[in-house]
Amino acid sequence: MRRIMVAGNWKMHGSLEMVETLLGGVINGSGPDSGADVVVFPPFPYLQLVQSMASGTHLGWGGQTLNPEPKGAHTGEVSGSMLKDFGCTYVLVGHSERRAIYGESNEDVASRFEAAQSAGLVPVLCVGETIEQRETGLTEEVVAGQIDAILARSGVSAFEQAIVAYEPVWAIGTGHTASPEQAQAVHAFIRNKFAALDDTIAGRLRILYGGSVKGSNATELFAQADIDGGLVGGASLTVEDFLAICRCAD
Ligand code: PEP
Repeated sequence: MRRIMVAGNWKMHGSLEMVETLLGGVINGSGPDSGADVVVFPPFPYLQLVQSMASGTHLGWGGQTLNPEPKGAHTGEVSGSMLKDFGCTYVLVGHSERRAIYGESNEDVASRFEAAQSAGLVPVLCVGETIEQRETGLTEEVVAGQIDAILARSGVSAFEQAIVAYEPVWAIGTGHTASPEQAQAVHAFIRNKFAALDDTIAGRLRILYGGSVKGSNATELFAQADIDGGLVGGASLTVEDFLAICRCAD
């Protein structure tokens, strides 16, 4: 049985005060017995605070990206081992904003995925199509290409310790959530793709949906056979909105 995961991607939002309030509220409001694994992805400067507040609680946390290199002359970048130093379990790789704004190719994402695992982190691989790609019938081709780059570099066994997040670009931060049927269709495509390589890995793989998830749509999304939780942006920035989504897993 795959456990639901509700993961909050705070992006470049927050302040010391906001992190204290938000995290305190999430820790107190989502118990260890809730139906979901609850995880947050804060901006790097707040990782130490998150570690000090969340250590010993049910909450997990991770970095929003990492550099593929373990160390070196990469001003402004952060390595996987640095994220480990601050207690991270997870790291996002290939978020659509990294792909679109910072030009990360499928191969760049594959090298980050590999670096994450080398550092002992669980990569959360984000995949998804733009609206133009969906409207021209390219959704499956695009998503398959994003996954194939990882498979070519790391092999299917790498997905024993990884999570996939299907995030249609047209649904991120737009308020236009994919319908449960649209999301389920792509999640089933992803799981079948893995099943063709390894049934056991496919059966255990958690595939999260991301794109305007809210308390009002999460129950129906999480009820789909191949949707194992949500990667949440906007609604993870307020305690009540995020907890409302967490409760949908109960
Ligand atoms: C995201 O940032 O990954 C995301 C899904 O954002 P939102 O929930 O705001 O659409």
